[in-house]
Amino acid sequence: MKFDFSHEIPNQLLAKINDISITIKREDLIDEYYSGNKFRKLKYNIKNIRDKGFSRLVTFGGAYSNHLYATAIFGKKINIKTTGFVRGNELVSLEKNSTLHFCNSKGMKLVYLNRSSYKLKEFSEEVKMYLIRNPNSYLIPEGGTNSLAIQGCKEILTKKDSEYNTICCAVGTGGTISGIIESSNLNQHIIGFPALKNEALYDVISKMTTRCNWTLEKRYSFGGYGKFTSELIDFINKISINYKILLDPIYTGKMLFGIFDLIKKNKWKWGKNILVIHTGGQQGINGVNQKLLLKKKPQIIIPKIF
Ligand SMILES: *Cc1c(COP(=O)(O)O)cnc(C)c1O
Repeated sequence: MKFDFSHEIPNQLLAKINDISITIKREDLIDEYYSGNKFRKLKYNIKNIRDKGFSRLVTFGGAYSNHLYATAIFGKKINIKTTGFVRGNELVSLEKNSTLHFCNSKGMKLVYLNRSSYKLKEFSEEVKMYLIRNPNSYLIPEGGTNSLAIQGCKEILTKKDSEYNTICCAVGTGGTISGIIESSNLNQHIIGFPALKNEALYDVISKMTTRCNWTLEKRYSFGGYGKFTSELIDFINKISINYKILLDPIYTGKMLFGIFDLIKKNKWKWGKNILVIHTGGQQGINGVNQKLLLKKKPQIIIPKIF
C-alpha cells in the first residue's frame, strides 16, 4: 500500500471537444484502494495526532462514506485506533455494506447514531459519553474538513498545473476546493460542482478561502447527495469504456457529466484548457450498484484493471 504523497500524480489528457481540452488529474491513483482527496485531508491531521500523542481518531460518516473508508485505512496503517459514528440506526448489515465491512475489517469501531443524534454530532449525548470514556480522542468532522485538511488539499495542484486556466473539482463540504483555490494562481479559475443541494455552500467556502477566483456550478447535483439518474450511470459507463477511467456516481461522475454537458450545449463560458480533479471515491460504487440491482436497472461496470 502506497502512502507516499510525494510521488507525482499523473495528469491524463481525456478529450478535446471543439477547441476545448479536458485533462484529468488522477488523484484516484494515490493508493490502491482508490481514495483520492480523503487521504489529502487526513495527512496533516494524522501528523497532528502523532505529534500530540492522541490514541484514537473519532469521526463521522454515512454508511457509504469515502471519509470513513480512508480513515479506517490510515488508522490501520499508522496503528491508531479509529471510531466511526455512522449515520442511521437501521441495522446496516456489515456483510451487505462493503464500505462498513471494509472499515470493520481494518479495525474501525463502528457506532450507529440515529438521525437526530447524528445531526448533533459531538454534541449528542452518545458521542459526549463516548468522548468522556475515551478521553485521548482526536475529533475530525464529517467529510474530514478542517483547517489541516485544507492544508493537505493545497498539495493537489503542483507547479506544472499552472498551464491550465480552468480547474474543476467536485464539492461536498468544500474543504477540497478551498485547498485548491488557496494554492491556485490568481489567473486560474476554479469551478466547483456541488454534489448536493446546500444553499449555504457558497458562504461556507468563502470562509475557508480569501480568494475570489472561483464559482459554483450548481446545475449538476442530480437532485441531491447520493441521488443519481440512469443517464448519469450510462455516462459513467461510457467514460469507463472510452477513456478507461472509472468515475464515482456521487461526486466525480456528476462533475464530468456537467462539464461535457455544458460543452456539448455550447454553454461552456470558461477557459479552454481545463484540468479536472479526479478526487477518487470509487469504493462507493458497490453501494450504488446494490441499489441499482434492487431497482433492476443497469449497474456501473467496474473494469478489470480496478
Ligand atoms: C469527499 C469527496 C469530495 C468532496 O470533498 P469536500 O472536501 O467534502 O468538498 C469530492 N470527491 C470525492 C470522490 C469525495 O470522496
